[in-house]
Amino acid sequence: RLYNKVLELKGNIRVFCRCRPLSASEIAMGSGSVAEFESAMNGDLIIRTGTAGKKLFKFDQVFSPEDGQDDVFADTAPVVVSVLDGYNVCIFAYGQTGTGKTFTMEGCEGNRGVNYRTLEELFHVASLRQGLIKYEISVSVLEVYNEQIRDLLAPPLTVDQTPKKLEVKQMPEGGHHVPGLVEAKVQSMEEVWEVLQTGSSARTIGSTRSNDLSSRSHCMLCVMVKGESEISGECTKSKLWLVDLAGSERVAKSDVQGDRLKEAQCINKSLSALGDVIQALTTKSSHIPFRNSKLTHLLQDSLGGDSKTLMFVQISPYEGDVGETLCSLNFASRVR
Ligand code: ADP
Ligand code: MG
Repeated sequence: RLYNKVLELKGNIRVFCRCRPLSASEIAMGSGSVAEFESAMNGDLIIRTGTAGKKLFKFDQVFSPEDGQDDVFADTAPVVVSVLDGYNVCIFAYGQTGTGKTFTMEGCEGNRGVNYRTLEELFHVASLRQGLIKYEISVSVLEVYNEQIRDLLAPPLTVDQTPKKLEVKQMPEGGHHVPGLVEAKVQSMEEVWEVLQTGSSARTIGSTRSNDLSSRSHCMLCVMVKGESEISGECTKSKLWLVDLAGSERVAKSDVQGDRLKEAQCINKSLSALGDVIQALTTKSSHIPFRNSKLTHLLQDSLGGDSKTLMFVQISPYEGDVGETLCSLNFASRVR
């Protein structure tokens, strides 16, 4: 496979923008698309902000509604594969609920997203290196909701058990780790598929309320790779985070109370912490505020240093969403 060399030569943080298609109901309401993709090839995206206004945004890559999962993964593969060379990697999808974060990361049956394709690619490249490097791959699946970590691979609790409190710890040998989190060793795509299924069903079981909890938690898949050179015996350890972030839409304080308000505040806090960390990294600030949220604390090893970060900023083409779309694009421009 030929990777896009141009992208490979760029810095450690890159931002891809992806716009979903207009839905049938949006078309029925007579909405056109606010997004224009004439020079998407150059990473340019134009947003119609009103009847006359237009705003230009620049990204490393822009995917229009016509681009499929294959197109997206072709540009993502070089980033994920670098975990096999010992780099820590972090990929996350940011955006308003309903813009395709889960579609990009998880995808669906017959149209798999980045998560599945990543594991597939890692096994493929590892097999090409057989005899040179021996790889061991394991995965954890977790969710961060209201600043609490939930292990989605942990066996269900019996009635008299209380859930273990999971915390991020700094390891004496360096790096961060969540003691007690299940790490499932995977050797084939069948095993990967099983693990991903277990993770996503644990997510649904946990959501007791009828409204969609998945849009208000961060869903995180961590792929841990150990490599051992069969020639020199040298070992590498690296990890790759694949993150489907909570919806970035702002909720008016007047509209929500109680639990819903707390959720909104937690999401706000962690997404702005993420923005702050990435901005501190790009401006080479001496203090990087990783500890301001569970999300950034978990991702600490895979943000900054020589690790590689890829952010998908997901947007809606619908006219009624243009306010949120501009917010997301501004957030993404800030980190670039
Ligand atoms: P989010 O996770 O950001 O809330 P979803 O991934 O659930 O959004 O996407 C919302 C809806 O839009 C889903 O029905 C999804 O299948 C559809 N969708 C999103 N992106 C695309 C795309 N690029 N092509 C086709 N359908 C998409
Ligand atoms: Mg989702």
